[in-house]
Amino acid sequence: KESRAKKFQRQHMDPDGYPSNNSNYCNQMMRRRHMTEGRCKPVNTFIHEPLVDVQAICLQGNITCKNGQPNCHKSSSSMKITDCRVTSGSKYPNCAYRTSQKERHIIVACEGNPYVPVHFDASI
Ligand code: 5GP
Repeated sequence: KESRAKKFQRQHMDPDGYPSNNSNYCNQMMRRRHMTEGRCKPVNTFIHEPLVDVQAICLQGNITCKNGQPNCHKSSSSMKITDCRVTSGSKYPNCAYRTSQKERHIIVACEGNPYVPVHFDASI
């Protein structure tokens, strides 16, 4: 079975893929990373930074997650990300997304030993 850490990498990591000028990025990546099976996942963020830099967030500022759990961490630097959001006209199984590039601090939840990212909570 896919571990929570591997699932985070599948859903959120794309270190080499900053989509300069590709408005199809989310349409392609949401499908390629299996987030359009059973339903169109409504909102998902991809992170374009090295995995080690994202794993290091687990050692950075500790904050409360949106669900009230205490194991969220906010990146001390801003990171290159792409926000994927399903369009209002999107109809499963033809999932259609809007692609927006941003540079934001990100908040992830971390778990386990090693203590690694398992959930993307927000970007600020
Ligand atoms: P909305 O803007 O639709 O009210 O809420 C979307 C929320 O989802 C935002 O707070 C945003 O930070 C968060 N979000 C962005 N990307 C992801 C993601 O990949 N996974 C989860 N669970 N939440 C995300």
